[in-house]
Amino acid sequence: MTDIKKNLEEVEKTLADGVKLIAVTKTHGPDMINEAIDCGVTDIGENKVQEIMDKYEKVKPVNWHMIGHLQTNKVKYIIDKVCLIHSVDSLKLAKEIDKRAGAAGKTMDILIQVNSAGEESKFGISPEETEGLIMEILETCPNIKICGLMCIAPLEEDPEDARPYFKAVKEQYERFKNIEHRRMDMKYLSMGMSHDYIAAMEEGSNMVRVGSAIFGQREY
Ligand SMILES: *Cc1c(COP(=O)(O)O)cnc(C)c1O
Repeated sequence: MTDIKKNLEEVEKTLADGVKLIAVTKTHGPDMINEAIDCGVTDIGENKVQEIMDKYEKVKPVNWHMIGHLQTNKVKYIIDKVCLIHSVDSLKLAKEIDKRAGAAGKTMDILIQVNSAGEESKFGISPEETEGLIMEILETCPNIKICGLMCIAPLEEDPEDARPYFKAVKEQYERFKNIEHRRMDMKYLSMGMSHDYIAAMEEGSNMVRVGSAIFGQREY
């Protein structure tokens, strides 16, 4: 049995001041998620639309985060359920989010996912194209607020090796703070998972997405 309470305490002890913990609950059922909520978890992350839909009614009130790749045709299912979409990496996706948010009468908070290592297998926009995408979203998506950046570092054996990627995204994040716009509020830098969140925090992350360190290894 995974001791969620103990694991959570261990993780929380290591969080730097002002760092928000997103407990990543993918593959885990409502019982485990509710247990984590009872232990004080306020924000949970899922990477699949289907899992959000399956669990939404069975989980106690909590802030849901969409952290995984989002297909345009599935935006409509989660627009009224999540508080933050971490994985926006194209104008096409942003426009669909904008349309659905408008129809739902809300403004959707998003992060831009940056593929800082330029890995072909990963989602995210290249660092060079990030500013252009931000500008296009600000121009064309009135129902979206850009709240920061997200990145998934390459899976390195040694989390120390991920630091250059975190550093690069942190630099962009600081730079984009200078863009003045009503629908731009660079406040979240979502970087770091179970194996590398300490290094990510040290490089300036203020939002960490931690799954297995809390819930144990996932079984697919
Ligand atoms: C699964 C996942 C995490 C958490 O991974 P762990 O290694 O279990 O902490 C973080 N971010 C994203 C985008 C994920 O899909």
